[in-house]
Amino acid sequence: NRRILLASRPQGAPVAENFQLDQQPVAAPAAGQVLLRTHYLSLDPYMRGRMSDAKSYAAPVQLGEVMVGGAVSKVVESQHPGFAAGDWVLGYTGWQDYALSDGQGLTKLNPALAPVSYALGILGMPGFTAYMGLLDIGQPKAGETVVVAAATGAVGAMVGQIARLQGCRVVGIAGSEEKCRYARDELGFDACINHHADDLPQQLAEACPAGIDVYFENVGGKVFDAVLPLLNSRARVPLCGLIAQYNATALPEGPDRSPLLLRTLLTKRIRMQGFIIFDDYGHRYPEFATQMGEWLAAGKLKYREHRVAGLENAPDVFIGLLEGRNFGKLVVEVAPE
Ligand code: NDP
Repeated sequence: NRRILLASRPQGAPVAENFQLDQQPVAAPAAGQVLLRTHYLSLDPYMRGRMSDAKSYAAPVQLGEVMVGGAVSKVVESQHPGFAAGDWVLGYTGWQDYALSDGQGLTKLNPALAPVSYALGILGMPGFTAYMGLLDIGQPKAGETVVVAAATGAVGAMVGQIARLQGCRVVGIAGSEEKCRYARDELGFDACINHHADDLPQQLAEACPAGIDVYFENVGGKVFDAVLPLLNSRARVPLCGLIAQYNATALPEGPDRSPLLLRTLLTKRIRMQGFIIFDDYGHRYPEFATQMGEWLAAGKLKYREHRVAGLENAPDVFIGLLEGRNFGKLVVEVAPE
């Protein structure tokens, strides 16, 4: 059983030496347990937070422990009455080839409904995040302008497409011309802007002639700075992620901009709300699963996976996720089906 352990805590951006590949014999399941073979491992930005021992909403991974992560696995051997060999399951079993589970936290998947790996993206945590953050906090109305960054990623691509289904004008922000073309031509966004452009604020203003009513925040940093002056009165800002800051070790240099932020929130009566998807919305998962399943089956949503084969490659592609090297939902194919 190959496992990827947290070897040391990153200072700034994670590096290969923060991870360690180790090998253990595959254990046999005891009574009440199942042995799982990992097929697809999800790599997600929140894992950067778990590598750090700074206080957060979830406990950190301890040094020498297997890196956390959601994965789609197949039951190889079952000593549990609820599972049989051959069942597909979703669970937080981490960066490893095999895992033992007592069944707690495992969800059975139906491979006839959709490719099983979709449970890590469009039909799982990132899709749920997009759905609840946009619809419950963002409250988009037809004709309004919705802006989302990391626009071709797991969450952003769904935010933009769901906003289009609500009749909104959707403007994406992404990290390359190729990603922007995809957002416009495949995902149906009205416009998409490369955040590496020097004139990002001007381009964004031109793409949002009626201002911004909903800004779905995935990124922070200079993207937020470009968005702030364009927010309309009574705009809503679901605060989902701040990936531009995850590797930061200190506050940025420069003048304190918080008075500008607070004055804008006050005078424009803007509602900005952070959320942690399962903590805040776990009880609404069935509603999401039904609606997203319907949209997907009706061909209303496009979904792009960025698949990388080989568990040993997980550290490198995870490091790349924090630099925008992924194009779509990042999934490691640990074992072919
Ligand atoms: P993505 O698939 O979107 O991958 C991350 C993307 O972030 C990169 O591809 C890159 O896209 C973009 N990015 C990275 N660094 C920067 C930067 N410095 N400036 C601008 N963009 C950057 O990841 P997810 O869809 O899984 O996650 C998106 C966000 O949602 C993250 O912030 C994540 O933490 C958050 N999240 C929050 C949840 C919650 O419960 N609150 C749950 C799930 C996700 P590009 O090349 O286009 O810039």
